[in-house]
Amino acid sequence: MKIIFLGPPGAGKGTYASRLTPILKLPHISSGNMVRDEIKAQTQLGNLMKKYSDKGKLGPDEIMIKILAKRLRKPDCKKGCILDGFPRTIKQAKALEKISKIDLVININVPDQIIITRLSNRLTCKKCGTIYNKLTLKPKKDNICDKCGGELYQREDDKPKVIQERLNVYRKKTEPLIEHYKKKNLLKDVSCNDLMIPPEVIVEKIKSIINSVQKSRS
Ligand code: AMP
Repeated sequence: MKIIFLGPPGAGKGTYASRLTPILKLPHISSGNMVRDEIKAQTQLGNLMKKYSDKGKLGPDEIMIKILAKRLRKPDCKKGCILDGFPRTIKQAKALEKISKIDLVININVPDQIIITRLSNRLTCKKCGTIYNKLTLKPKKDNICDKCGGELYQREDDKPKVIQERLNVYRKKTEPLIEHYKKKNLLKDVSCNDLMIPPEVIVEKIKSIINSVQKSRS
């Protein structure tokens, strides 16, 4: 099954996808993590993408489509995948349709105020990318990743002045995908209206949507 997680930055796409990966036995493909790996390795691509990412802007469609197409050709994607952060524009969605059939789009709705609070308190592991939150999802030891012992940091684009720009970019470029996938009858909504709702609760909601879609199509 190929599933897209759609939603604004800070909606929890990465958190829910990483929890669903072992349950569904599907790889979690995060375009943002792929971009950050390139930036960390200081590759030519990483140096280029850093200019966009640090400002909360989207990278060029052509580049992102190439990166994702290459990743989706890997054998672990044969049975499906969870796409987190891609597509982010209509152009990317159309390119993806040529590469791969999409089975389901989970649209995660979260009010702006929750997003702003969540992102400005988010911490990310430098080594493995695991996401924590100073308010709601604290690591066992301050600033140390529970999973790999890596150091936690605040992403440049999680700083307050960049968050608003990321939300503006989402509304303008990514939100039109909701209508696009609704028309294709692929969209299912999940809402999170309270900052303190534990991730497991939303994961359960997503699991039951996936199960009912699988049943209805089998
Ligand atoms: P994310 O962690 O998904 O918010 O991604 C971090 C940054 O990587 C974004 O702000 C963009 O600069 C870049 N990026 C990730 N995915 C895409 C995409 N599908 N299209 C364009 N830029 C992207």
